[in-house]
Amino acid sequence: MLEQEMSVQEIEQWLRERDEVKLTQLWDRADSVRRQSVGNEVHLRGLLEISNYCVRKCTYCGLNIGNRKLERYRMTREEIFECAGRIVKFGYGTVVMQAGEDYGIKTDWLAEIIEQIKIETPLAVTLSMGERSFNDLKSWRQAGTDRYLLRLETSDTALYRCIHPDLGNQSSDRIKILDQLKELGYETGSGVMIGIPGQTYQSLARDIDLFRRLDLDMVGVGPYIENPLTPLGKDCVTTPAISSSDQVPCTENLTYRVVALTRIVCPEANIPSTTALATINRDSGRELGLSRGANVVMPNVTPVDYRRKYEIYPGKACLNETAEVCQDCLAARIASIGRSIARGPGNRKHNSKT
Ligand code: SAM
Repeated sequence: MLEQEMSVQEIEQWLRERDEVKLTQLWDRADSVRRQSVGNEVHLRGLLEISNYCVRKCTYCGLNIGNRKLERYRMTREEIFECAGRIVKFGYGTVVMQAGEDYGIKTDWLAEIIEQIKIETPLAVTLSMGERSFNDLKSWRQAGTDRYLLRLETSDTALYRCIHPDLGNQSSDRIKILDQLKELGYETGSGVMIGIPGQTYQSLARDIDLFRRLDLDMVGVGPYIENPLTPLGKDCVTTPAISSSDQVPCTENLTYRVVALTRIVCPEANIPSTTALATINRDSGRELGLSRGANVVMPNVTPVDYRRKYEIYPGKACLNETAEVCQDCLAARIASIGRSIARGPGNRKHNSKT
């Protein structure tokens, strides 16, 4: 049986599994699929958080427009080039530029930056700018952008509506945008948070099935981490009422299960061991994610003063370490689990299906 053929019911059973011995089998299976389909190398993508302005009112996220306690910043063109140069020096193959949904980031301004990075460096460029228009996405693709990340957060529409309000009268349809990204020729990435209040095991199983049906090139998943400066963190948001036995916990173990199951159903995808995972287990979260299906790490190269202000949730891992310290630390962690660091852009591998 092809690995991808695991049913939604089986996925849900694995999410609910309590037997530690069986879970060890899941980790081993995911690790073996990872080795066979994407190999032993770990791709490093330099993460640059270029702006923390955001027009959205996402109830889970510290960047939401209502958070008046957050001091806002937008990096300059010169600062972005300087960081891109450092990413090249570190030997990472990709720059990932991420921001709140910031319309102060003008289409042409970013397109020129992308063009220049593509002319002057060998870097692949990934963007994560939120729900921008088709024309913006087209301009940035034409400027040379290789990939775009847009998490679904959850595929449960009732829950999504509670945590991710529309912008004015424009309804938020992230699946439609993911289709547009594919049409424009981007490598397309998505993902969800794990343990959002009101998220059931069944809806999380459906999320994983959807990753497979969308044939995503990249899938990033991480635990929901409560932020007291957000409406969801302050309990001011009512999410769908579900029984406590159906509520997915926002734990490390559930996150590994989702990483492992995602690897099994999307064998070729690039899957990061995320910062949120490293935040809830600073000692070995990154390594365990990599040993249970992940093959990518995104070291933060944002200047430390800005990084502290990109506070989507409190206590983020690697908040005060310089990019140089992160580089050494990650190299040691990757070596400690017998894996090697990849060179080059690290695009999705397309293995022929048998
Ligand atoms: N504005 C872009 C967007 O919405 O896709 C990118 C920036 S947004 C801050 C990046 C991701 O942070 C979101 O997709 C979400 O999954 C994650 N995030 C935000 N708040 C979080 C929280 N409290 N816990 C865990 N992850 C969170």
